Amino acid sequence: MSLHVIVIGAGVVGASTALSLAERGLTVTVLDRQPQAAAETSHANGGGITPGHAEPWNAPGIIQRLLTRSGTGEPFRIHAHALPGLIGWGINFLWQSKASRYYLNAQNNTRLAVYSGQCLKRLRERHQLSYHQYTDGSLELYFSQSELDHALDLRRMIGDPRVEIRVIDADEVVAMEPALEPVAGRLAGAMFLPLHESGDACVFSAEMLRCAKQLGTEIRLGANVERIERHQGRVIGVRLQDKQLLEADAVIVAAGCGSPALVKPLGLKLPIYPVKGYSATLELEQAELAPTIPLLDLEHRIVTARFGNRLRMAGLADFDGYNRTIRSDRIQVLLDSACALLPRLADEIRAGRAESWAGLRPMTPRGTPLLGPTRIPGLYLNAGHGSMGWTQAAGSAEVLADILTDRSPAIELGPFAA
Ligand SMILES: Cc1cc2nc3c(=O)[nH]c(=O)nc-3n(C[C@H](O)[C@H](O)[C@H](O)COP(=O)(O)OP(=O)(O)OC[C@H]3O[C@@H](n4cnc5c(N)ncnc54)[C@H](O)[C@@H]3O)c2cc1C
Repeated sequence: MSLHVIVIGAGVVGASTALSLAERGLTVTVLDRQPQAAAETSHANGGGITPGHAEPWNAPGIIQRLLTRSGTGEPFRIHAHALPGLIGWGINFLWQSKASRYYLNAQNNTRLAVYSGQCLKRLRERHQLSYHQYTDGSLELYFSQSELDHALDLRRMIGDPRVEIRVIDADEVVAMEPALEPVAGRLAGAMFLPLHESGDACVFSAEMLRCAKQLGTEIRLGANVERIERHQGRVIGVRLQDKQLLEADAVIVAAGCGSPALVKPLGLKLPIYPVKGYSATLELEQAELAPTIPLLDLEHRIVTARFGNRLRMAGLADFDGYNRTIRSDRIQVLLDSACALLPRLADEIRAGRAESWAGLRPMTPRGTPLLGPTRIPGLYLNAGHGSMGWTQAAGSAEVLADILTDRSPAIELGPFAA
């Protein structure tokens, strides 16, 4: 009999984990409280797979950036009601911004992200996957020379030789992405990262589950896990809200921002804070005016990605607790930024047709996810991927599958220990 593993969470991390486990011949059950897969943070994210941009957000100087760029019309917003719940996590987040710690965290995150990109390519070789994927790189746009120089210094410090970066000028940017012609005059330059990809993470998650199901995985949506059950110190399964007990040899918590609440009764305190972000997805009427290549605009801190005839615009970071409200003033900030970047599409973007969404990034103070076994036998974590969940999903899934099949993971687990 093969090991029976329950995966809690059918977001991009849990769905990828389920497929990796099923491919190793394990018996897998995926549980999610939502009626559909990827209905929470993986639903409408920025769509970027960006191993060359996997550094945490708390770079040295974060305090100054938070002070100067926080507020209603800014990329960051700290809501007063959230402050009490932020204290412990926030102090740790700022502490991790010390250069030595930050570069270490950035290197660890990049290593996992690059590995994950390799795993994703291999997944595409093994399975016929269709999720509006774009696999020809991305552009990081800089409107100030000092920001570009600073970003290049940062990349040198992180220094993963597998991440190719080409610095290009405004003419080359326009040749690569004609939709940027109207802003070319303001551009200081850009980085082209051929390793980067994009796609629809929600569709991808469904694809992972489809493939896992073909390999025998049981998928139970609308299954809210009330608690993780133990017997004589060892995890024996989970109790659903309807009181049903589902037994298993191992339980993997891949529940995004829901993870801390699930493991708290077992005495584990996960340093995961929900950092809210927004997206707007526009069904294009003038598709020829929209960018095809995924973009990251460092001035406005927004990303765009193209899924067929739809354009996704995403960004912002709100410290708003677990409040998932889609605040119209914040959506407006996102749309204004998108209009500034893509003026030819401004009328379409402002027409009010874009579908608004907000999601909670499961963020740790280090910016690195929590992977692997816990001190409770039978309990494993694959959570806390913050702003990099899709970028790191395929690799994190393989790491968990390695551990559960007694193989050495390709990534050293120490930096990701809970
Ligand atoms: C605006 C925005 C833009 C982003 N852009 C990018 C990007 O471009 N690239 C990138 O790599 N990442 C991006 N991210 C981050 C990425 O979306 C997340 O890291 C990722 O979605 C986290 O995936 P997850 O599976 O861990 O969590 P989730 O997708 O939230 O999945 C967790 C699942 O667990 C389930 N669950 C929770 N508790 C329970 C319970 N008790 N019982 C049963 N089920 C439970 C939930 O229903 C949920 O479906 C972005 C995030 C945001 C908000």
